[in-house]
Amino acid sequence: MDHFLYRDGRLHAEDVPLEAIAAEVGTPFYCYSAATLLRHYRLFDEALSGMPHLVCFAVKSNSNQAILRLLGQAGAGMDVVSGGEYARARAAGVSGDRIVFSGVGKTRGEMRTALEGGIRQFNVESEPEMRALSEVAVSLGVTAPIAVRVNPDVDAKTHAKIATGKSENKFGIPISRAKEVYALAASLPGLEVVGIDVHIGSQLTDLEPFRLAYRKVAALTEELRAAGHDIRRLDLGGGLGIPYTRSNAAPPLPLDYGAMVQEEVGHLGCEVEIEPGRLISGNAGVLVSEVIYVKEGEDRTFLILDAAMNDLVRPSMYDAHHDIVPLAEPAPASEQARYDVVGPVCETGDTFARGRDLAPCAPGDLVAFRSAGAYGAVMASEYNTRPLIPEVLVQGSDWAVIRRRPSFEEIIARDAVPAWLDGDA
Ligand code: PLP
Repeated sequence: MDHFLYRDGRLHAEDVPLEAIAAEVGTPFYCYSAATLLRHYRLFDEALSGMPHLVCFAVKSNSNQAILRLLGQAGAGMDVVSGGEYARARAAGVSGDRIVFSGVGKTRGEMRTALEGGIRQFNVESEPEMRALSEVAVSLGVTAPIAVRVNPDVDAKTHAKIATGKSENKFGIPISRAKEVYALAASLPGLEVVGIDVHIGSQLTDLEPFRLAYRKVAALTEELRAAGHDIRRLDLGGGLGIPYTRSNAAPPLPLDYGAMVQEEVGHLGCEVEIEPGRLISGNAGVLVSEVIYVKEGEDRTFLILDAAMNDLVRPSMYDAHHDIVPLAEPAPASEQARYDVVGPVCETGDTFARGRDLAPCAPGDLVAFRSAGAYGAVMASEYNTRPLIPEVLVQGSDWAVIRRRPSFEEIIARDAVPAWLDGDA
């Protein structure tokens, strides 16, 4: 459930009509609902309430300071994958002991930053990374808590670009080699083994792949304990999918996910960490855009919006579906028109939807892309020198711009022209 509903014929974010925000901020813009974010975080928190646990929000899905602060104040930990995300989590007031550091290519500089600033655990993905972390920790005279990310060779049955748990993927170490890698970890100075980490992919719509992976992790926990390792935490990753379209069957609920986790690993007495991103932020955000032109092609009609692939890349990158709805509620039995919905960027890939049936649109109409709160703003670029679009957070009847639109001057001022090019063009 989200908090983007029609009221009096107008699409609202909680108690605020999105048109009112558009009038002040201009389009396109992202809008997030605080109530939805908190609701989704709490669903996970409650689903794991039978076990010691920490829900670490995957910062990569939405890294705005206001969102991190909102979730951090509610008690969430954070899962970060870069020095920049670590800095964002810390700047939002999240203490290091609630931050886990994931990612296949952490640099020594990033390790140093996290060790100096405080870190709950590094999820280590390879032996070379483990050796590097050991050296950095020793050089700083500290101990780095680690979990090793294992690759359980499980088919997550999701889009190939977001599946991470098969042996051909770059992530983690093969679970079959886990014992020797943990033995290496125990032998290296400056490291302390605290747990096991697994993350098999994103937008999973079935619990079975999770179950298979967690069963393998449970067996590995017993094996590693028998070999003398103190496995006290299990980081079970993120990945639970969301309904991107109202007509499809809904993916499993966090409550069912939590019950499955309890069944598979509850008997081990470990503290469970999870790293959900999409399920917390995805349906908590919309992208609002204006229709610029309705263009008649030879065999189709193009709806040309002021949002483009640089603002929301998921459709062109993953063939992702986003429901598109008008801000003015159509009459229940209103006619439909069929559109290819596109943006202004000079790429054929700048297509949001092909052959989509929508209420007939005219230039100046406003539409919202639903489910755009995760992997939307964070993946945006300034391609075609289109400024990063504003982000707005709504809470009840309050709203605030949480990232403003930069001016062209600000964008251009980031470039530097070398002295030898001084003079006019
Ligand atoms: N944890 C790790 C290591 C990831 O790579 C990802 C996503 O790619 C996540 C958590 C979050 O996944 P999701 O947003 O699907 O919950």
